[in-house]
Amino acid sequence: MNSTESHNADRETLWLAPYAMHSCDTAGREHPEPSHPYRGPYQRDRDRIVHSSAYRRLAHKTQVFAGEKGDYHRTRLTHTLEVASIARTIGRVLRLNEDLIEALALMHDIGHPPFGHSGEDILNEFTQELGGFNHNQHAVRIVTELEIRYPEFPGLNLSKEILSGQQIRDKRGKAQTQPQPLLEVQVVDAADSIAYDAHDADDALELGLLEMDDLRTVPLWEEAVSRVQSRYAGLDAKPFRQAVIHQLLDMLVSDLVESTCQRLDVENIADTAAVANYGARIVAPSEQMFEQKAELEKFLFTRVYRHPVILAERAHAGEALREMFQQFSQSPARLPQSARARLEKDGVARVVCDLLAGMTDRFALEAHQRLKDS
Ligand code: MG
Repeated sequence: MNSTESHNADRETLWLAPYAMHSCDTAGREHPEPSHPYRGPYQRDRDRIVHSSAYRRLAHKTQVFAGEKGDYHRTRLTHTLEVASIARTIGRVLRLNEDLIEALALMHDIGHPPFGHSGEDILNEFTQELGGFNHNQHAVRIVTELEIRYPEFPGLNLSKEILSGQQIRDKRGKAQTQPQPLLEVQVVDAADSIAYDAHDADDALELGLLEMDDLRTVPLWEEAVSRVQSRYAGLDAKPFRQAVIHQLLDMLVSDLVESTCQRLDVENIADTAAVANYGARIVAPSEQMFEQKAELEKFLFTRVYRHPVILAERAHAGEALREMFQQFSQSPARLPQSARARLEKDGVARVVCDLLAGMTDRFALEAHQRLKDS
């Protein structure tokens, strides 16, 4: 261990809980590299993610609402930053490894194709024979193969804890998953869910897809409303809505932190092995909050994600991807050189899928138009 590693290990020993992932226990990287003179391994991972092109493209990818509806609503990038912010807050209270949490949070959505889940459905349909397309798995493919940024290796050569944390995201919510992921991974999953519950409601209200009164049938929302009303009198509509969103976030995060601390204490979780062998997620809300949160999500599913405006947009975007998939597959000569270079190894369907998945919404619409015009 060199002096930086020992400094990092000392700092972590002082601060991190025994059930946190200590970076001196990392399983390392697929391609071994010397340690950095002053950055710990997960700090380095975080930096590599932030400097990747897949991360930058999140700025122009749909979260739920597409770009042409104004500039208030979240993009994949701002969603990602909200997740990182919430996850670090939770991680700090629990004394977990914040560098690892931040790296996991910043990469968690980089595998998303353009046009949100409609893009994912189309790519999945076209790659069934190859095992389908899934944004969580695609994120791993990006950071292990597709990003070419270093002469020594393909991908970003991230620490194995980051890769396994991303791989397990597909199994989120399956309580019996064994072994359970690190607490840092569990925190990012929980923060993701809290972030989108709150911001999708906020964006839908701003865009006029929902009215405040519609949400008042949801008990958790109503509880947030009544807490805001008891604190402030006579707020105008917009500050009132923002206060309710802040209240909702606070209730969700506080419940999660309290329930998790209690579980760690009652179950006497002493180290990462105890986390792995526990029969369920340790980072989880109370039973009551779990049910209330599920009600809010059910409401958002039917009233927002299935809103006719959103469905129409999805159908339009899906059509553009479908046509591009067919055209590129029939005439691989039209693929860019970098994609053609991978045809022999990966086959045309996977190469076209990778190309389309990497596009931002705007680039995809322009590429679609160019193909139609040619
Ligand atoms: Mg997310």
